[in-house]
Parts: sequence; C-alpha cells; structure tokens
Amino acid sequence: MTERQSGRLYGVGLGPGDPELVTVRAAGLIGKADVVAYHSARHGRSIARSIAEPYLRGDQIEEKLVYPLTVETTDHPGGYRGALDEFYEQAAARLAAHLDAGRDVVVLAEGDPLFYGSYQHMHKRLADRYPTEVVPGVTSVSAAAARLGKPLVEAEEVLTIIPGTLPEEELTARLAATDSAVVMKLGRTFPTVRRALERSGRLAEAQYVERATMPGERTAPLAEVDPDSVPYFSVAVLPSRIDRTVAEHADGEGRGEGEVVVVGTGPAGPLWLTPEARGVLAGATDLVGYTTYLDRVPVRAGQLRHGSDNKVEAERAEFALDLARRGRKVAVVSSGDPGVFAMATAVLEAACADPYRSVPVRVLPGMTAAHAAASRAGAPLGHDYAVVSLSDRLKPWEVVAQRLRAAAAADLVLALYNPGSQSRTTQVGLARDLLLEHRAPDTPVVMARDVGGPTERVRTVRLADLDPTQVDMRTILLIGSSQTQAVARDNGTEVVWTPRRYPPV
Ligand code: SAH
Repeated sequence: MTERQSGRLYGVGLGPGDPELVTVRAAGLIGKADVVAYHSARHGRSIARSIAEPYLRGDQIEEKLVYPLTVETTDHPGGYRGALDEFYEQAAARLAAHLDAGRDVVVLAEGDPLFYGSYQHMHKRLADRYPTEVVPGVTSVSAAAARLGKPLVEAEEVLTIIPGTLPEEELTARLAATDSAVVMKLGRTFPTVRRALERSGRLAEAQYVERATMPGERTAPLAEVDPDSVPYFSVAVLPSRIDRTVAEHADGEGRGEGEVVVVGTGPAGPLWLTPEARGVLAGATDLVGYTTYLDRVPVRAGQLRHGSDNKVEAERAEFALDLARRGRKVAVVSSGDPGVFAMATAVLEAACADPYRSVPVRVLPGMTAAHAAASRAGAPLGHDYAVVSLSDRLKPWEVVAQRLRAAAAADLVLALYNPGSQSRTTQVGLARDLLLEHRAPDTPVVMARDVGGPTERVRTVRLADLDPTQVDMRTILLIGSSQTQAVARDNGTEVVWTPRRYPPV
C-alpha cells in the first residue's frame, strides 16, 4: 500500500479589506484550494471570507472555525486561556484531517497572517508536520497610512505597533517614547488609548482610521471621534513628525502655548533615558543645554539646538524661558537627574521672577549618577545615605567640610558629586582626611567614572588609599559607612553592599 501524499497548508493574507488588495499569489491559491478555512466569532460572519469571496470557486469545502468565546467569561476549567487552547487544538485537528486526506487547505487571514493573526495558532500546531507556505498580505498598518495619505516613518524615525489592549500606563510610556505609532485593536479599548495619547502629549497628532479600504471606511483626527462609535476594525495612527516639525517651527516662531521642560537624560546613553524624557526631547522645538549633554541627544530635522558652556546657568535658564514665552516648546537638557546639582533649580529660580512668572515649566526626573554608579558596584546605597557636592564654586568649602563631618558622625554612606576637576584638585584629599577622622582606613570607596559611557571604569579602594589624582569631573565617589561590606565572590568579582539592618546604638 502506498502512503497517500499529504495536502499543503497555506496561510494566506488577504490585505486590509478591498479585494483588489489581495495579492495575485493569494487569489491563485484561494481559487485552487480544496478546503478554505477561516476563523469567525460566534455570529459566524467572517471578514476574511468576504474579502476572499471573489476568488472562491463555489464548490470548495469551507471549514468555519468558530471561536467559542471572545471576551466573555467561561466555565472552562482552564479559564479563558484553557477554552481557547482547546478550541485551537480541535481546529488544528480538523485541518489536519483534510491534510492527511491529501487536500490542500487555505487558511484565510485578514491583513497579514503572521501579524496578530489567528492563523498563527494553526501554523504553530501544523507547520512542522505538513508542507506549509505563508503568503504575506498588506497589513492594516500600511492601509491606514495610505488612506490617511500621510508619511508614516522617514529617515531615522521608529515605528511602534501597539495593541490597544495594553494597560494605560504601558500605552502611555510606549506612545511617549516612540516617533510614529499605530495602535491596533481599538473598539472597547478606545477610551483608554485616547487617555494614553493625551497623557503622552500625542493626542493632537493622532489620526483615526476605521475599516481602511473597506465599505464604511472613515478617517478623522482622533480627538474628534465619538468613543461609542469605534469598532474593533480601527486603528490610531501617529504619522511621521518630520514634515510637521519642519513646517511648524522653521521660522523660529512658536505655535500655541510654549513651555520649558527640564529633562534629565540619565548618566549616559539611551538605555537610561526614560520614555517620558525621550518623548519630550523628540517633540521639542528647541533644545537648550551644556553642549556636552546636548551632544547625547540625537539630531532631528527642524529642531533648533542652543548649546553653551556649563557656566552661566542663570542666562541659559532665562534664554529658555524667553523662547517659551514666544510659544516655543523648549527642552532644557541636564545629565542624570535635572534636580540633582543641575539645571532644574536655575530654571525655577528664573521662572519665579519677572518677566517669566507665567511661563509653564515642568521637571522630568532622570536616573542620577549615584544610583547608576551604585548598581555597578552592588548596593552601597542600600541604607541611609547623604548626597554632597564637593564643588566650592557655589558654596564655601567650610560648609562642605561641616556637612561631611556631620554625615560622617551620623555614619551615613556618602555620594560625592563634582569631586574634582582640572582646576579643583584639593577637595578629594581634604574630604578623605576629614572622613578618616571618623571612619576606618578600610572603609570601601567606590570610584566610578563615566558610568554607562564608553570609558566606564568602576573600582573599589580603601578610604586610606583614595588617590585624588585618580578622580576627575566625570567621577562620582561612594564612601561606605561603618557597615558597608566589600566582599570577593567566587567568580573573582567584588561586590559592595550596605546592609539594611543597623546595630543598636
Ligand atoms: N544631574 C547630574 C549631576 C550633575 S553634577 C546627576 O543627577 O547625575 C556632575 C557630577 O555628576 C559629575 O562631576 C560626577 O560626579 C557625576 N556624574 C554625572 N554623570 C556621571 C557618570 N556617568 N559617571 C560618574 N559620575 C557621573
């Protein structure tokens, strides 16, 4: 007895709705298939089938794979997941029976089969057992952009595709951080998606596309859409912002209300940039800051950059507030956290005086150098600690010394910012000697330079061995308390940590 050759499985993308957007390959396979399968909800209507209709022969076996439930509750012992898994198993078994009998099976998929498609559940269960081909289709992403007639992504822009079913916080963070976006699966998620667009500051850009390329198609600015009218077959689109920014801001005059946002970029590259800060940097018309920090922010067409040296903070703050008064959206860039020895204070000081009292100002947090450095060493800041800048440019050295003595007497771990520079070479030695009056020579000191950057160097030394010539502007020092441990581990590394318990005094 010869074994019968099995049939072939095809996952066929049908595009977004217009049957003319079905590929030639897809139409050919649909016309030749022995079995045409498609998923549907309990109401039995299948959008995929209606798109494929012109290509069906009429004499083919149709396998309707009807979902036992969509979002309603279930009494299946495995819950929602269990009910679905059982459904997919049974559906795959039905298709397998046709394939075993030598029949070619086309599974219809709206859009693209591997893009949020139900076909994937069949593919995972069958593709390793039967010869299988997936035919790509035009996704709703491309269809929506085409129907809006707006560029979607250009040059270095990033497109994020987001299921609207994510929690609001997650939606907000993703929308804030991305350039362009398409939010899928609207319908009942619409009010949440709209709030996330608003909270991420992207609502004004957002477009709405319903039933792209299908009968009943509708496009509109998303803010104008009635939430009760939104079906599942709709998407929200944030198109490319390159043209917008260029057109709106090239003349140096602002549109609408300006503001100053003081942004912390974190101690180093984009891994430590918050989504919120990334979004504000991308959406700003003007960037203001110390040139070294501005250089870390990617260049964007249409955005103006105003770099300066790291002195004259007050002038920089007033310059930013002036721009905002003229309607510009200004991001003032600081490294680390903008509230830690950085620009936020200077901006607020100026903003609390005439003529800037009514200019809107916001401060966005960033990861501060102490925390990045601590994580590299282990957990030296695990207990109470004090943060002190060793710079005596803005406060007398005697104040610094007094605070170091107080912190040392209280046995606090110390994070020392601005320890020294080419022109300030004495502070580290003075601080070391002063601290040695209160702390053991063996006290661990983490010396962290350029944390997160290309020349990162993190070492732990004894307090008595702290060498001021090894310390520069890009270094932060973490001085342990009497409880801080530096311990060698089996792999040869050393970790530094401060216990959360403290012995009774
Ligand atoms: N706003 C910044 C601090 C500005 S003061 C923040 O929150 O981190 C500048 C000092 O920060 C430097 O002299 C150094 O002590 C520290 N610093 C900033 N980035 C650093 C990094 N990547 N590695 C080590 N120290 C850093």
